[in-house]
Amino acid sequence: KIPSLMEELKSKASSDDESPEEIQVKNSLCEKVSFYKGDITQLEVDAIVNAANTSLLGGGGVDGCIHRASGPSLLAECRELGGCETGQAKITCGYELPAKYVIHTVGPIARGHITPNHKQDLASCYNSSLTLATENDIRTIAFPCISTGIYGYPNEPAANVALTTVKEFLKKNRDKIDRVIFCVFLEVDFKIYKRKLNEFFPKD
Ligand code: ADP
Repeated sequence: KIPSLMEELKSKASSDDESPEEIQVKNSLCEKVSFYKGDITQLEVDAIVNAANTSLLGGGGVDGCIHRASGPSLLAECRELGGCETGQAKITCGYELPAKYVIHTVGPIARGHITPNHKQDLASCYNSSLTLATENDIRTIAFPCISTGIYGYPNEPAANVALTTVKEFLKKNRDKIDRVIFCVFLEVDFKIYKRKLNEFFPKD
Protein backbone atom coordinates (compact mmCIF):
# COMPACT_ATOMS: atom_id res chain seq x y z
CA LYS A 1 0.00 0.00 0.00
CA ILE A 2 1.29 3.46 -0.91
CA PRO A 3 0.91 5.79 2.06
CA SER A 4 -1.05 8.95 1.43
CA LEU A 5 0.69 12.31 1.73
CA MET A 6 -1.02 12.99 5.05
CA GLU A 7 0.04 9.62 6.45
CA GLU A 8 3.56 10.23 5.27
CA LEU A 9 3.59 13.66 6.87
CA LYS A 10 2.10 12.29 10.08
CA SER A 11 4.76 9.62 10.36
CA LYS A 12 7.46 12.22 9.77
CA ALA A 13 5.78 14.47 12.29
CA SER A 14 5.82 11.81 14.98
CA SER A 15 9.48 11.08 14.36
CA ASP A 16 10.42 14.79 14.43
CA ASP A 17 7.89 15.93 17.04
CA GLU A 18 6.39 18.35 14.53
CA SER A 19 2.87 18.58 13.18
CA PRO A 20 2.26 17.93 9.45
CA GLU A 21 1.41 21.60 9.06
CA GLU A 22 4.77 22.63 10.50
CA ILE A 23 6.58 20.31 8.10
CA GLN A 24 4.67 21.68 5.11
CA VAL A 25 5.45 25.25 6.12
CA LYS A 26 9.14 24.42 6.46
CA ASN A 27 9.23 22.69 3.08
CA SER A 28 7.73 25.66 1.28
CA LEU A 29 10.83 27.71 2.12
CA CYS A 30 12.83 25.88 -0.55
CA GLU A 31 10.54 27.38 -3.19
CA LYS A 32 11.71 30.84 -2.20
CA VAL A 33 15.43 30.35 -2.74
CA SER A 34 17.55 29.65 -5.79
CA PHE A 35 21.04 30.27 -7.07
CA TYR A 36 22.27 31.71 -10.33
CA LYS A 37 25.78 31.77 -11.75
CA GLY A 38 26.65 34.97 -13.55
CA ASP A 39 26.62 38.74 -13.51
CA ILE A 40 24.26 40.17 -10.87
CA THR A 41 23.78 43.36 -12.92
CA GLN A 42 21.81 41.35 -15.49
CA LEU A 43 19.13 40.21 -13.05
CA GLU A 44 15.64 41.59 -13.41
CA VAL A 45 14.64 41.55 -9.76
CA ASP A 46 13.22 44.15 -7.38
CA ALA A 47 16.66 44.63 -5.79
CA ILE A 48 20.22 43.49 -6.19
CA VAL A 49 22.59 43.73 -3.25
CA ASN A 50 25.94 45.45 -3.67
CA ALA A 51 28.98 44.33 -1.67
CA ALA A 52 30.12 47.91 -1.16
CA ASN A 53 32.72 49.61 1.03
CA THR A 54 32.06 52.11 3.85
CA SER A 55 32.42 55.12 1.54
CA LEU A 56 29.64 53.87 -0.78
CA LEU A 57 31.47 55.68 -3.54
CA GLY A 58 32.27 52.65 -5.66
CA GLY A 59 35.18 50.24 -5.74
CA GLY A 60 36.38 47.05 -7.39
CA GLY A 61 34.68 43.69 -7.84
CA VAL A 62 30.90 43.56 -7.91
CA ASP A 63 30.70 47.17 -6.67
CA GLY A 64 32.51 48.42 -9.79
CA CYS A 65 30.33 46.26 -12.06
CA ILE A 66 27.14 47.62 -10.47
CA HIS A 67 28.26 51.26 -10.78
CA ARG A 68 29.29 50.76 -14.42
CA ALA A 69 26.01 49.09 -15.34
CA SER A 70 23.83 51.50 -13.39
CA GLY A 71 25.37 54.70 -14.75
CA PRO A 72 26.57 57.91 -13.04
CA SER A 73 23.23 58.66 -11.34
CA LEU A 74 23.95 55.86 -8.89
CA LEU A 75 27.16 57.50 -7.69
CA ALA A 76 25.34 60.84 -7.40
CA GLU A 77 22.71 59.26 -5.12
CA CYS A 78 25.37 57.39 -3.14
CA ARG A 79 27.19 60.67 -2.45
CA GLU A 80 24.10 61.86 -0.58
CA LEU A 81 24.05 58.84 1.76
CA GLY A 82 27.09 59.71 3.88
CA GLY A 83 28.65 56.25 3.76
CA CYS A 84 27.58 53.07 5.51
CA GLU A 85 28.95 51.13 8.48
CA THR A 86 30.10 47.53 8.28
CA GLY A 87 27.13 45.18 8.63
CA GLN A 88 24.61 47.91 7.78
CA ALA A 89 22.74 48.56 4.50
CA LYS A 90 21.41 51.52 2.52
CA ILE A 91 19.11 51.64 -0.50
CA THR A 92 19.23 53.53 -3.80
CA CYS A 93 17.43 53.34 -7.14
CA GLY A 94 18.78 50.99 -9.81
CA TYR A 95 18.83 53.58 -12.62
CA GLU A 96 19.98 51.84 -15.83
CA LEU A 97 19.95 48.38 -14.24
CA PRO A 98 17.09 45.98 -14.85
CA ALA A 99 16.76 45.84 -11.04
CA LYS A 100 14.56 48.57 -9.51
CA TYR A 101 16.77 49.09 -6.47
CA VAL A 102 20.30 48.53 -5.26
CA ILE A 103 20.81 47.68 -1.59
CA HIS A 104 24.37 48.57 -0.62
CA THR A 105 25.81 46.65 2.29
CA VAL A 106 29.32 46.60 3.72
CA GLY A 107 30.83 43.23 4.55
CA PRO A 108 33.61 42.62 7.08
CA ILE A 109 37.26 42.69 5.95
CA ALA A 110 38.40 39.21 6.96
CA ARG A 111 41.65 38.80 4.99
CA GLY A 112 41.42 35.02 5.27
CA HIS A 113 41.03 34.87 9.05
CA ILE A 114 37.52 34.87 10.55
CA THR A 115 36.77 36.24 14.03
CA PRO A 116 33.35 36.06 15.77
CA ASN A 117 32.91 39.76 14.93
CA HIS A 118 33.42 39.11 11.24
CA LYS A 119 30.81 36.38 11.36
CA GLN A 120 28.34 38.62 13.18
CA ASP A 121 28.94 41.47 10.72
CA LEU A 122 28.44 39.20 7.72
CA ALA A 123 25.16 37.87 9.14
CA SER A 124 24.16 41.47 9.80
CA CYS A 125 24.73 42.34 6.11
CA TYR A 126 22.16 39.74 5.06
CA ASN A 127 19.73 40.68 7.84
CA SER A 128 19.99 44.43 7.26
CA SER A 129 19.57 44.00 3.50
CA LEU A 130 16.52 41.78 3.89
CA THR A 131 14.99 44.10 6.49
CA LEU A 132 15.49 47.08 4.16
CA ALA A 133 13.92 45.02 1.37
CA THR A 134 10.76 44.28 3.34
CA GLU A 135 10.48 47.94 4.40
CA ASN A 136 10.48 48.93 0.70
CA ASP A 137 8.07 46.30 -0.64
CA ILE A 138 10.91 44.49 -2.37
CA ARG A 139 9.80 40.90 -2.91
CA THR A 140 12.63 39.53 -5.06
CA ILE A 141 16.26 40.10 -4.11
CA ALA A 142 19.63 38.82 -5.34
CA PHE A 143 22.77 38.63 -3.20
CA PRO A 144 26.37 38.33 -4.37
CA CYS A 145 28.78 36.36 -2.16
CA ILE A 146 29.44 39.30 0.18
CA SER A 147 33.00 39.71 1.52
CA THR A 148 34.38 36.66 -0.31
CA GLY A 149 36.29 38.66 -2.92
CA ILE A 150 38.62 41.53 -2.08
CA TYR A 151 37.56 41.34 1.61
CA GLY A 152 38.87 37.77 1.91
CA TYR A 153 36.15 35.95 3.88
CA PRO A 154 36.67 32.23 3.12
CA ASN A 155 34.01 30.97 0.69
CA GLU A 156 32.47 28.02 2.51
CA PRO A 157 32.10 29.70 5.93
CA ALA A 158 30.64 32.73 4.13
CA ALA A 159 28.07 30.53 2.39
CA ASN A 160 27.13 28.99 5.75
CA VAL A 161 26.48 32.43 7.23
CA ALA A 162 24.54 33.54 4.13
CA LEU A 163 22.33 30.44 4.04
CA THR A 164 21.72 30.31 7.81
CA THR A 165 20.82 33.99 8.00
CA VAL A 166 18.53 33.98 4.96
CA LYS A 167 16.79 30.84 6.21
CA GLU A 168 16.13 32.34 9.65
CA PHE A 169 14.86 35.56 8.07
CA LEU A 170 12.54 33.74 5.66
CA LYS A 171 11.11 31.62 8.46
CA LYS A 172 10.02 34.79 10.25
CA ASN A 173 9.02 36.80 7.16
CA ARG A 174 7.78 34.23 4.68
CA ASP A 175 4.86 36.42 3.54
CA LYS A 176 7.04 39.41 2.73
CA ILE A 177 9.64 37.88 0.39
CA ASP A 178 8.91 35.83 -2.75
CA ARG A 179 12.44 34.95 -3.82
CA VAL A 180 16.04 35.19 -2.68
CA ILE A 181 18.61 34.50 -5.38
CA PHE A 182 22.18 33.69 -4.38
CA CYS A 183 24.11 35.08 -7.33
CA VAL A 184 27.42 33.26 -7.51
CA PHE A 185 30.13 34.43 -9.87
CA LEU A 186 32.95 31.96 -9.40
CA GLU A 187 33.00 28.20 -9.95
CA VAL A 188 34.12 27.65 -6.34
CA ASP A 189 30.95 29.34 -5.02
CA PHE A 190 28.78 27.62 -7.62
CA LYS A 191 29.93 24.24 -6.28
CA ILE A 192 29.42 25.26 -2.65
CA TYR A 193 25.91 26.63 -3.17
CA LYS A 194 24.88 23.72 -5.40
CA ARG A 195 25.72 21.37 -2.56
CA LYS A 196 24.49 23.47 0.35
CA LEU A 197 21.20 24.82 -0.95
CA ASN A 198 19.55 21.39 -0.68
CA GLU A 199 21.12 20.88 2.72
CA PHE A 200 19.73 24.14 4.14
CA PHE A 201 16.46 24.12 2.18
CA PRO A 202 15.54 20.45 1.72
CA LYS A 203 12.79 19.65 -0.77
CA ASP A 204 11.21 16.90 1.36
P1 ADP B 1 33.98 42.11 -1.22
O1 ADP B 1 34.81 43.37 -1.22
O2 ADP B 1 32.78 42.22 -0.32
O3 ADP B 1 34.81 40.89 -0.99
P2 ADP B 1 33.95 41.62 -4.12
O4 ADP B 1 33.19 42.39 -5.14
O5 ADP B 1 35.42 41.71 -4.16
O6 ADP B 1 33.34 42.07 -2.70
O7 ADP B 1 33.55 40.09 -4.20
C1 ADP B 1 32.30 39.57 -3.77
C2 ADP B 1 31.86 38.48 -4.73
O8 ADP B 1 31.27 39.08 -5.88
C3 ADP B 1 32.98 37.60 -5.26
O9 ADP B 1 32.53 36.26 -5.29
C4 ADP B 1 33.16 38.09 -6.70
O10 ADP B 1 33.66 37.07 -7.54
C5 ADP B 1 31.72 38.41 -7.03
N1 ADP B 1 31.47 39.24 -8.21
C6 ADP B 1 32.32 40.05 -8.89
N2 ADP B 1 31.67 40.62 -9.92
C7 ADP B 1 30.39 40.18 -9.89
C8 ADP B 1 29.22 40.39 -10.69
N3 ADP B 1 29.24 41.19 -11.74
N4 ADP B 1 28.09 39.73 -10.35
C9 ADP B 1 28.04 38.92 -9.28
N5 ADP B 1 29.09 38.69 -8.48
C10 ADP B 1 30.25 39.31 -8.79
